[in-house]
Amino acid sequence: MNEQSKFIVNIECSHCGERFILKGRMKKGKVETGFKRCVCDNQDEFDISQEELS
Ligand SMILES: [Zn+2]
Repeated sequence: MNEQSKFIVNIECSHCGERFILKGRMKKGKVETGFKRCVCDNQDEFDISQEELS
């Protein structure tokens, strides 16, 4: 996979249901978005889906 690929990452918090839509970049086999935590302080439990941009 191209290391410069860009992704749209949808993150939904499993605790409060808040949704975040972020842009990410593939780095070392992992999409990096810079996302740290939800507004409710949840840092671990998320539903994440990502979509590659062409
Ligand atoms: Zn939350």
